[in-house]
Amino acid sequence: MNGRLLGKEGREFAQKALELMEQFGIPPTPENYAVWICFASDTNPELCETLRDHIETERTFDDRVNADLFEQYFQWKAIQDAILESGGAMCRELGVVQQQLQDAERDTAAYGKALQGAAGELSASPDADGMRRLVESLVSATARMQRRSQDLEDKLQATSNEVTQLRNHLERVRQEAMTDALTGIANRKRFDETLRRARRDADTSKKPLSLVLCDIDFFKRFNDTWGHQTGDQIIRFVAGCLTRHSKESHVVARYGGEEFGIVMPNTDAAAASEIAEKIRRTVESKKLLRKSTNEDLGNITISLGVACYRDGESIEELIERSDANLYRSKTEGRNRTSNDIEDSKRSAA
Ligand code: GH3
Ligand code: MG
Ligand code: MG
Repeated sequence: MNGRLLGKEGREFAQKALELMEQFGIPPTPENYAVWICFASDTNPELCETLRDHIETERTFDDRVNADLFEQYFQWKAIQDAILESGGAMCRELGVVQQQLQDAERDTAAYGKALQGAAGELSASPDADGMRRLVESLVSATARMQRRSQDLEDKLQATSNEVTQLRNHLERVRQEAMTDALTGIANRKRFDETLRRARRDADTSKKPLSLVLCDIDFFKRFNDTWGHQTGDQIIRFVAGCLTRHSKESHVVARYGGEEFGIVMPNTDAAAASEIAEKIRRTVESKKLLRKSTNEDLGNITISLGVACYRDGESIEELIERSDANLYRSKTEGRNRTSNDIEDSKRSAA
C-alpha cells in the first residue's frame, strides 16, 4: 500500500478526493473513489493527466465516463497482476526443473562411480562368485538409474505441460487486455500500440498509412430515447460494419465511448476514404430493430474523418488531423466522410 495514503496526509487526500467527487457530482462508489483518491494524492501521472484534461474540456462526469476511467486504469492493473502471478508461477516451475536436473547429474555421477569400481574389481580378475556379485550390483545400479531417468522424464513432461498451460493463460490475458469487452474489437490500448508501430513501419517502408476516425451521430439522443442497453447494441452493430469492410491488415478499434478508429497500413487517403464511405453507406442503409422488443429503431448514421500520415509528423498530429476532418463531417451536416484530398487539390490549383 502507498505509504502516503496513511496518517494525517492520507486523511487529507481522502477528504480532498471526496470533496472533488462531490463537486463533480460523482457517486461515492468504491470504483469512483479508487480513481479520485489517486488523483487527489497524485499517485498515477497518466490518470491525473487524463482527469485534468477531462475537467478542462468537459467538466462533467457521467456514469459512462466514470466506468471508463476505472476500467482504463484499474482493470488494466488487475490484468497486470495476473501477468505477474503467471510469471511467478513460471519461475517456480523452472526452479523445480533446475533442481531435478541437478539431482539427475548427481545420480549419473554416482552411477559412473559404480561402473568405475566394477572396472577396478574386474581388473583384479575375480572368481566366479565375485563375478556374479559384481554383475548383480551392476544390474541393480543400472535398474536404479533407469528408474531415475524415467522419473525425471515424467517430471519434465509434467512441467512442460504446466508451462504450456501458463503460456496459454498469459496469451489469453494479453489478448483480453487488448480487446474491448463490449464489441470484441481492439481497445484503445491496442489502437495506440498499433498506430505507433504502423507509423514506424511507414517511416521505413515509405508506404502510405491512413487513419479513419468515426463517431456515431446524435448518439446521446439515441441513448436517451432507447436506453444504454440498446445504445450498446448499436455500438456493437457499428463495430461489426467497420470490421466487415476493413481489410485483414487493418486494425479496427473502439477509440472511446461511441468513437472508433481504423488504422490502415499501406493505404492512401483516397483508398481509405472509399472504404470509409462504404462503411457509412452500410450503416445508414440498415433498418435497425430493438433486440429486446423488436421495435423499429429507425436508421443510425455515422460521421468519419480520414487523414494520411505525413512524413515526420507525430501520432498525436495524425490523430488531430483525422479528428479535425471528423469534426468537419459533423459541422457540415453529419453522415459524411471528410479528408484532406479536396483541400490539397484546391491549394495545389
Ligand atoms: P454527435 O453527432 O455530435 O456526435 O452527437 P452525440 O450525441 O453522439 O454526441 P457525443 O458524441 O458527445 O455523445 C456521446 C454519447 O455516447 C454520450 C454517452 O452517453 C454515450 N456513450 C458513450 N459510451 C457509451 C457506451 O459504451 N454505451 C452507450 N450506450 N452509450 C455510450
Ligand atoms: Mg462522440
Ligand atoms: Mg457522437
